[in-house]
Amino acid sequence: MTKGLIVRSTGSWYDIFDEENQKSYKGRLRGRFKLKGMKVTNPIAVGDYVHFELENESENTVVITELLKRDNYIIRQSTRKKYHGHVIAANIDQAILIATLVSPRTSLGFIDRFLVSAESFGIPVTIAFNKCDLLLEEDLEYQEQLMALYENLGYNCVAISALTDDDTDIIDELILGKKSLLAGHSGVGKSTLINRIDPNISQRTDEISTFADKGKHTTTFAQMFQVNDNSFVIDTPGIKELGIIGLEDLTIGHFFPEIKDAMGHCKYHNCTHVHEPNCEVLKRVEGGKIALPRYQSYLSILNSDDNRR
Ligand code: GDP
Ligand code: ZN
Repeated sequence: MTKGLIVRSTGSWYDIFDEENQKSYKGRLRGRFKLKGMKVTNPIAVGDYVHFELENESENTVVITELLKRDNYIIRQSTRKKYHGHVIAANIDQAILIATLVSPRTSLGFIDRFLVSAESFGIPVTIAFNKCDLLLEEDLEYQEQLMALYENLGYNCVAISALTDDDTDIIDELILGKKSLLAGHSGVGKSTLINRIDPNISQRTDEISTFADKGKHTTTFAQMFQVNDNSFVIDTPGIKELGIIGLEDLTIGHFFPEIKDAMGHCKYHNCTHVHEPNCEVLKRVEGGKIALPRYQSYLSILNSDDNRR
């Protein structure tokens, strides 16, 4: 029995990497393979660790016998009623959200929604503010304020320019020794960044998206690329955000670190921090201790039923 990492999934076949021996295999599930717990459209996803047995040595094919416990995973709502969702990726060390103040400017609302989803999945986030070479003086100042705001909340932030050669060190350091999931709106510089990390990767990304465009590939499968021995980048073609699944009104505040910090001091334990008297969150918003845009993002998620189920 050997331990392997799922680096690619097509639904029936899996590309498996044995990190210890640096060997690749093609694997499939044993017919009776059953997953305990909830119903998902795909039992095994990119980033999963599995146990496998060699099936055919000359063809390097194996049979997956067991799914190992996940540290975390990202799940998307399924369009198929029977299922809770589709697992995008598992065991992610960090999500790198690529944002930019230049066109297409990333909204704070989008950043905050992403952070809330990542908090709910238990995944640390780095916000990479890209296209810094295009920033005007006043944008630079604003970006610094934003970075300070998010860093104070515990989110790692970097300012980069994926197109120029200046920031190679920052980018290399960012992904070193980790499994990083890349996300961000189209046009923010995701492909450019991937290309900077490893030109061989970007080519393969193009192949997937062309394939997806033809409509043959209806389900989005993330793909994991090995940058070096222990650094992996997970690309999720077509996925801009993580999605917010099943958050109850009263739990949303838990995923805003500064609201979580305040809510224990609210008068009512079931305070929604909207209109209640003696609400500590409202007090801190009024006193400027909680940034207004962050509170607005909280309200926006609280009021967006359709986005949460
Ligand atoms: P994606 O849709 O997120 O993959 O974005 P792309 O990587 O295709 O980038 C969109 C456009 O922005 C391209 O024209 C890139 O050349 C440009 N771009 C990406 N990163 C930077 C950057 O750091 N600086 C500048 N000036 N342009 C960039
Ligand atoms: Zn409150």
